[in-house]
Amino acid sequence: MTPFVCATCGTQFAEAEIQPPACPICEDERQWVPEQGQLWTTLDELRAGHRNEVRREEELTGIGTTPEFAIGQRALLVPHGDRHLLWDCTPLLDEQAAIEIERRGGLSGIAISHPHFYSAMVEWARRFDCPIHLHAADARWVMRPDPAIRHWSGDTLDLGDGLTLICAGGHFAGATVLHWAGGASGAGALLGGDIVHPAADRSFVTFMYSYPNLIPLSEAEVRGIEAALQPFAFEQLYGAWWGRVLRAGARSAVARSVERYARALRGEHGTTG
Ligand SMILES: [Zn+2]
Ligand SMILES: [Zn+2]
Repeated sequence: MTPFVCATCGTQFAEAEIQPPACPICEDERQWVPEQGQLWTTLDELRAGHRNEVRREEELTGIGTTPEFAIGQRALLVPHGDRHLLWDCTPLLDEQAAIEIERRGGLSGIAISHPHFYSAMVEWARRFDCPIHLHAADARWVMRPDPAIRHWSGDTLDLGDGLTLICAGGHFAGATVLHWAGGASGAGALLGGDIVHPAADRSFVTFMYSYPNLIPLSEAEVRGIEAALQPFAFEQLYGAWWGRVLRAGARSAVARSVERYARALRGEHGTTG
């Protein structure tokens, strides 16, 4: 029995004798199935050819996989009391990364923005004996159920020590972002996954139903994200991938970007503000 891993999206499935017949996450219109059909691997195979990359990302430490695997998932270690919360997750956990995280006090928990980052969450939770916080609205996308998974519902979940999960919706019904009150030297930071995605110009963000298939959201959905963030102060925004960080003015960038998005949906282009 092996927990097979979808090589396209990096999601680990429940232990089975044979490869799953399909990956529902890849078959969803937000992702894709490769031309040659679905490919499967295992964590052991992955460990043989890849390693975790642990390096600084602005004020935090990021953990990725090198060479890049699946959709290039990158997780972040966020200070949480005397331990760390793992924000988002990766398909690979190698021994060297695990030892480094233990040296820093271990994990208090794992919180994940949306199903494209569920990846190897159960392996991580077992290694660090910690809970996984997922929004209940996305429960159907869990491919490897486990007692460590704690589904929460509603608009926010206070994790203590200045960390708050916010259900913003948009990309997924339960799409979640993390507010870190102590971030940006106390001015606040938002860990946006790809729910609130820093644009290449570093002064705007964007919001999409599907990034690979380029499907936009509606104005109502984008304004819903803005409303969910309204009570929270933040100066910096961390995106879902390496280097996607807005270092200053993130809060006003989100407001500006919501207006630009709404104008674009009406066919009005040209940068203002
Ligand atoms: Zn998949
Ligand atoms: Zn996604």
